[in-house]
Amino acid sequence: MCQGCLPIRVGLLDKGVRCPTHCVSCNSNYEDLAHLIFYCPFVVHVWHMTDIWGVIQHAIQSTTLATETILLLLDTLSAEQNQRLAVTLWSLWKHRNLKVWDDVTEVSATIVERAKNLVDNWRLANAYSIVAPATSATTLWWGAFSRSIGYN
Ligand SMILES: [Zn+2]
Repeated sequence: MCQGCLPIRVGLLDKGVRCPTHCVSCNSNYEDLAHLIFYCPFVVHVWHMTDIWGVIQHAIQSTTLATETILLLLDTLSAEQNQRLAVTLWSLWKHRNLKVWDDVTEVSATIVERAKNLVDNWRLANAYSIVAPATSATTLWWGAFSRSIGYN
């Protein structure tokens, strides 16, 4: 995102790709990175549903570019808040792509819920990996492999 690799409409236009430049969430303005993740009225409504909107507003006012805002937020927010920032950004990008490619219209609560579920599932998966014993298939596979190369 910070390296300009997302195929955002204004960026595509700059690279010679003929495409519409409007925002699919609000139908106005140019879809550049700053609009897509911070300034779009729909996106602002999504951020209001998180507990980090106040910090984001302050970061927006303290920086010039959206990439600078993201980097400032990553330095400012707690680890848990950074998780929320990252998954909400991802969920906003997913929302945008669902609209562009599949003409799916989502409400802001769907975006926040998808982000929350992603964090919850990630935490659950990591909690499970800590307590889960190695599977016998993995042990068997590794044992056979290590014997075949004379590792043991
Ligand atoms: Zn918009």
